[in-house]
Amino acid sequence: TFDYIVVGGGTAGLVIANRLTENPNVSVLVLEAGVSDQGVIASQVPFLGPTLTPNTPFDWNYTVTPQASLNGRSFPYPRGHILGGSSSVNYMVHQVGTNEDWNRLAAVSGDSGWAWNNMRQYIQKTEKFVPPIDGHNTTGQFIPSLHGFNGEVLCSLPGGNQTIDSRVIATTQQLAEFPFNQDTMGGDHSLLGVGWMQSTDGGGIRSSSSTSYLAQANSRPNLTVLINATVLKLIQTGTSGSLKAFRSVQFANSGATSLATATGLRTVTARKEVILSAGSIGSAQILQLSGIGNAKQLSALKIPSTINNPNVGENLSDHPLLPNTFSVQSSLTFDGLLRDSNQINNAVNQWATNRTGVFSNNVANNYGFARLPPSSSIFSTTPDPAAGPTSPHWEMIFANFWFNPVVAQPATGNFMTIITVVVSPTSRGNITLASNNPFDKPLINPNFLSTPFDIFTMREAVKAIKRFAAAPAWSGFVTGPFGDAFASATTDAQIESYVRGLATTIFHPVGTASMTSAKSSAGVVNPDLTVKGAAGLRVVDASVFPFVPSSHTQGPVYLLAERASDIIKAAA
Ligand code: FAD
Repeated sequence: TFDYIVVGGGTAGLVIANRLTENPNVSVLVLEAGVSDQGVIASQVPFLGPTLTPNTPFDWNYTVTPQASLNGRSFPYPRGHILGGSSSVNYMVHQVGTNEDWNRLAAVSGDSGWAWNNMRQYIQKTEKFVPPIDGHNTTGQFIPSLHGFNGEVLCSLPGGNQTIDSRVIATTQQLAEFPFNQDTMGGDHSLLGVGWMQSTDGGGIRSSSSTSYLAQANSRPNLTVLINATVLKLIQTGTSGSLKAFRSVQFANSGATSLATATGLRTVTARKEVILSAGSIGSAQILQLSGIGNAKQLSALKIPSTINNPNVGENLSDHPLLPNTFSVQSSLTFDGLLRDSNQINNAVNQWATNRTGVFSNNVANNYGFARLPPSSSIFSTTPDPAAGPTSPHWEMIFANFWFNPVVAQPATGNFMTIITVVVSPTSRGNITLASNNPFDKPLINPNFLSTPFDIFTMREAVKAIKRFAAAPAWSGFVTGPFGDAFASATTDAQIESYVRGLATTIFHPVGTASMTSAKSSAGVVNPDLTVKGAAGLRVVDASVFPFVPSSHTQGPVYLLAERASDIIKAAA
């Protein structure tokens, strides 16, 4: 038996596994459904990150339900199915959210421990900032005093120039609307403006929760990690006062299609606690399979209710993404490389030889965040949903090539893509079970762009990046918007129709096991991450954020899991 069972060896789960086993007297079992990350080259080569999903063995290969506000389209919804979870397959953009994101979490949960004043310390535990791979002088590209240099996860600035970098930076000097931001991490520094991307890689290799937190703890005899182990449900182990205890976990070998065909079916019991870290999809699914959810819905699927809580799986919140592609007059984009297997092989070889070249870097070097102008008409009907007056509403990412997670690269042409993202969305969706078969994929409905605010913001973001690409810095480079839908979208109605036809996800789902104050019957977990109505059970992963942070979500998950580890240790 083990003191703690961690369900999901992903971003958060491996932080917990590491921190709890720092005490040699505490034993931890990690159950991970996915495969090993050992020897998965694409998970090591920074530039190949986007090839890890969708439709691979490293992905759960989910799709979203037809999205009503996106012309009924369905599309892939990647999640890491590999040790390290989504940190092993993501695009490695490193941020921690804004101070206002954390202060709102503290306000909503009634726990000042979630406020930025307290959370700031965990940067020192997670971050190990290292020089860029090309060793260039990074003065002015980040603010060292904001960062950690002795933590677990490697972070670095881009180590190779891309054709568009100097033009992006020049635009920040030409258009007052897009100021330069000297540090894009967030936290103590504003996210507003355009600056240099920080990535969770170092020495030309991805740094995931597996290569960092797990690698560092792997040799501890008190830590056991099982891969290919799919958790099917939690099992009630008794009561504790008015609470129902859930200290047992049923799991089986991954790869079955039903309970009847599952092999290796086993049940393990934790002496102290089960920690659910299966992510925003997995944790909500496992809770519901365990009877913790909407009793009416579950009984329709013949799942006996254990804790009736209709909030489980609800409040799904994600950032919608729109790839706006421009045709450019340059052969120096990555498009030629991506079409030429010889060039790709050379780049892989160069990476393998000495960890240099284009493949040792992330796919984008610059990005930025902005707010809608205060005079925007939407604010007469929708209260500002940002976490505070200095948190962004939308994001822009500059890619030196055709980037589109859904539409394949055309056979010819050179491109620049300016991705726009709504980072303070008001749309909410949900995750529900399709059946009582634990091997069936759940129904995932992020409900993208289903509110006036979200479609307004994406529309204004499209207008803004058109202004960006019209700055003098781009003359002689950008020839115009690519594709009829983008090129002909000038009226508000046309832009909205273009958006609905193309938008997908930037893979930041949260909220399906939302944190609320201990007294509140809304939400799923208390501020100490215990499940409402349950004993011996916590959720520690992205699903507990009641609002999606206005940044990329991996960094916030690392900080959350660090504090959760402290909370769990203190409760022991
Ligand atoms: P995960 O890291 O997904 O971990 C959940 C783990 O639980 C997985 O290992 C999974 O296999 C396992 N699991 C699930 N169900 C079960 C089960 N039944 N039994 C056993 N194990 C189970 N964020 C950024 O900050 N920057 C980026 O550039 C970025 N890009 C992204 C690109 C992609 C393609 C994706 C998918 C995500 C991206 N994100 C990015 C988001 C970020 O990676 C996630 O928010 C974060 O990693 C989530 O951490 P988590 O611990 O909640 O879940």
